[in-house]
Amino acid sequence: MNAIECTITCLRNSQMFIPSILISVGFFVSIFGYFIVKDSIEKLRFYWFANVLALVNMPVLFLSMSCDMILFIKLYLGYAGITIAMLLVSPFLYKVYLKRRIGFERDAELERLVGVDRVNVLNTSLPKAFTLGNEIFISAGMLDLLENEEIKAVLAHEKFHVLENKTPLVSRLKYLTFLPISQDKIEVMADEYAKKIAGKESLEMARRKIDEFYA
Ligand SMILES: [Zn+2]
Repeated sequence: MNAIECTITCLRNSQMFIPSILISVGFFVSIFGYFIVKDSIEKLRFYWFANVLALVNMPVLFLSMSCDMILFIKLYLGYAGITIAMLLVSPFLYKVYLKRRIGFERDAELERLVGVDRVNVLNTSLPKAFTLGNEIFISAGMLDLLENEEIKAVLAHEKFHVLENKTPLVSRLKYLTFLPISQDKIEVMADEYAKKIAGKESLEMARRKIDEFYA
């Protein structure tokens, strides 16, 4: 009997059949939710929910199994291993790519200005700013375009992403950018934080200048 047949037969004959089916349905609903929602916080919620349900389903399935190592557990462990490896490695790989293709230097003055451990200045004339893991990247073009307080507003917005990045590992994957203006909850929260640090006018002026540049 192959692993799939074994899994189905064991499940059918088990008292855990109904709970396991319900958890599986919840899992697929969460996956579906992940793809249809637009907001990144909602996405994250569905993502974690799906993973928690998959994890809960493991012991439930295991209890109902007479097979030694069921297919589902193998698949889940494989998936979890690949995902975790990707999450850990991707910020590092992207940083290597940036270093080679664009080039950047650490800037202690900007680090002091916003109170973040690591701020890097990208060697490009296009105004850009984003967060990668716990590091902020801002371009030389952005520094040229903006006044001090506006730079502080941009950095404060990114600092919010650094602070927010620390909890869920998954968000390390995302390159949360300052552009464009978005109704995404995380972006709105980052803007609120920036207004507190650098003032509403500085943030709005920074956005106006960036919009004009790209218009
Ligand atoms: Zn942002």
